[in-house]
Amino acid sequence: MYLIELYKSVQGESTFAGVPCIFVRLAGCNLRCAWCDSTYTFTGGTAFTSERILAEIEALRPCRLVEFTGGEPMLQARELLPLMQVLLDREYEVMMETSGERPLGEVPRAVHKIVDVKCPGAGAAFPSFRMENLDALTGNDEVKFVLSSRRDYEFARDFTREHDLAAKVGAILLSPAFSQAPSPLRIADNMTLDPRELVEWMLEDGLPARLSLQIHKFIWEPMRKGV
Ligand code: SF4
Repeated sequence: MYLIELYKSVQGESTFAGVPCIFVRLAGCNLRCAWCDSTYTFTGGTAFTSERILAEIEALRPCRLVEFTGGEPMLQARELLPLMQVLLDREYEVMMETSGERPLGEVPRAVHKIVDVKCPGAGAAFPSFRMENLDALTGNDEVKFVLSSRRDYEFARDFTREHDLAAKVGAILLSPAFSQAPSPLRIADNMTLDPRELVEWMLEDGLPARLSLQIHKFIWEPMRKGV
């Protein structure tokens, strides 16, 4: 597998935000989101066997939560899915951040899939969500929308209602996008959509979603890697 980095931090997003977590960031992505904060994953990476990744994870005990992210981890599904199963068998809690562009039906059901459904503001990466993947979602999973405008919010709102997401997944996350060139200050002004505005829209529409701020960009400087 091609690995960019593996480290321990606290989870910055989802309903697991704030929980100590081991991040396994895999190389390569087939999308190009306009607001991507992980462009350094697009090329390169170091070849690691699954056994070596497992050993690196085990060395970070006692942390028992592992997230596979990228890039797009599902581009390495052939080796990734068996590795996830080994971790589950060893009683790790496993998460995966994915765009949902690749088929998700074979992902072990105990894995918490955080599926980032792209909105119009993602630019060339929109639309990319594979609609059949709606059938692969369970209450164990979360759907995330990264929003950079009112138009993105309306897309997320309509998608949530049209597909009755609240009945399918454990949480619906609305996450304001960060600027591509944020200041080093750990402030909300670095977001391209004001979270105060977003909260007003959510309350007005009674949307069954939760505001999700990337807390690692408030704990550390927004551009910091490996945290
Ligand atoms: S899917 Fe993720 S890694 Fe790929 S371009 Fe979009 S934000 Fe970046």
